[in-house]
Amino acid sequence: MTFSPKTFRIKSFGCQMNVYDGERMAELLAQQGMAAAADGDDADLVVLNTCHIREKAAEKAYSDIGRLRREDGTKPLVALAGCVAQAEGAEAKARSAMIDLVVGPQAYHRLPEMVRQAATGGRPVDTDMPAISKFDALPKRRRANPSAFLTVQEGCDKFCTYCVVPYTRGTEISRPWADIVEEARALVEAGAREIVLLGQNVNAWKADGRGLAELIRELARIDGLERIRYTTSHPADMTEALIAAHGEVDKLMPYLHLPVQSGSDRILKAMNRSHSAQSYLKIMDRMRAARPDIALSGDFIVGFPGESDEDFDATLRIVDEVRYASAYSFKYSARPGTPAAAMEGQIPREVMDERLQRLQQRIASHQLAFNRSTVGRDTQLLIERPGKHPGQMIGRSPWLQSVHVETGAQPGAMLHITLVSAGPNSMAGAAAVAA
Ligand code: SAM
Ligand code: SF4
Repeated sequence: MTFSPKTFRIKSFGCQMNVYDGERMAELLAQQGMAAAADGDDADLVVLNTCHIREKAAEKAYSDIGRLRREDGTKPLVALAGCVAQAEGAEAKARSAMIDLVVGPQAYHRLPEMVRQAATGGRPVDTDMPAISKFDALPKRRRANPSAFLTVQEGCDKFCTYCVVPYTRGTEISRPWADIVEEARALVEAGAREIVLLGQNVNAWKADGRGLAELIRELARIDGLERIRYTTSHPADMTEALIAAHGEVDKLMPYLHLPVQSGSDRILKAMNRSHSAQSYLKIMDRMRAARPDIALSGDFIVGFPGESDEDFDATLRIVDEVRYASAYSFKYSARPGTPAAAMEGQIPREVMDERLQRLQQRIASHQLAFNRSTVGRDTQLLIERPGKHPGQMIGRSPWLQSVHVETGAQPGAMLHITLVSAGPNSMAGAAAVAA
């Protein structure tokens, strides 16, 4: 008798695009009659949807695979998906005998067929990047969280010298306008109140001569959709039209995640970022002019090869100038095959550790100041999930703050609140009493 998996578990690592891909793989498997394994139960099939952006993230995939062997010596079917799968291809099978199939981010519409092959003893690998869109082969969206992800653009042509994305996700591709609008409508029908448009370079999205600003204006017309966000953007694609949309489209939330990576022009040049510290700051000024209450966010890398103390000081300065509402910061991780991995002047680990700590302290102080500046504001909260205490719910403010509130409102509700207190990472709100 052949084994056929009935339950699955998908573990997604890394960015929001992986979370989106994980949801779509779950929908595909459910369409084939499989069910998500209940919490704590063994699954017949485990899909590890991996991240390759930093060495730590990639290594995590292999240590997780090792832990999948059960106490009685048996194992589930193991699918390696995501960017580690794309980067390693068939080599992954040689690295771990636990892996039954390897599927890249552009090929996962073939997952059900590959699972069938693996269940009958095959070890299929598909890391093709076909020109035809995998999205056409995916089922219609039927379930959605209050805040739902929607991938509109994939891949990247920017080739920052530290980054694996152009190699693992391929060149920039924009999904067609009509497909995105249709998926957005389906998500709203399925319960989404907020849609987060995703892309490795989401603001590079374009189709038929139209750009992201026009797409956002179109989506804002969907009844029942209350909020629109988009991430992650590149400074080079921050058009006037998109900046203007922030001042004009009410449903577009006052939040922008715009990675800068470094405050030093010398390092930005070595990174092959096409902007300078000054041109980046100009964009941030224009964003504030268009939407004065905007919450600004970014990404930073510390310890890029050749980064001197002066370069790092320039990074601290740009943090102070932008006064970020939040920001992500990472230690540089040399990735095989990227130009920066072969550069001279690799920075010792202790120096990176110390710089990261100083940078994160600086970011945290601005984050707290931003949160405090919003105390007293009356605003709308999108309720997302229950909190730790009875009667407590957690939602998001327009500025993407996580807000705790005592309320009977359920996930998906838009609640009118006042922000009453601020911590570095979360806020408390009080629900307005109905008159
Ligand atoms: N496309 C986006 C951009 O250019 O800003 C970011 C995509 S990347 C998935 C997310 C973040 O990971 C980057 O902004 C960068 O800060 C960080 N990152 C990428 N490669 C890295 C590396 N080799 N080491 C450390 N951090 C890295
Ligand atoms: Fe990577 Fe972003 Fe640079 Fe593209 S623009 S290479 S995704 S960091």
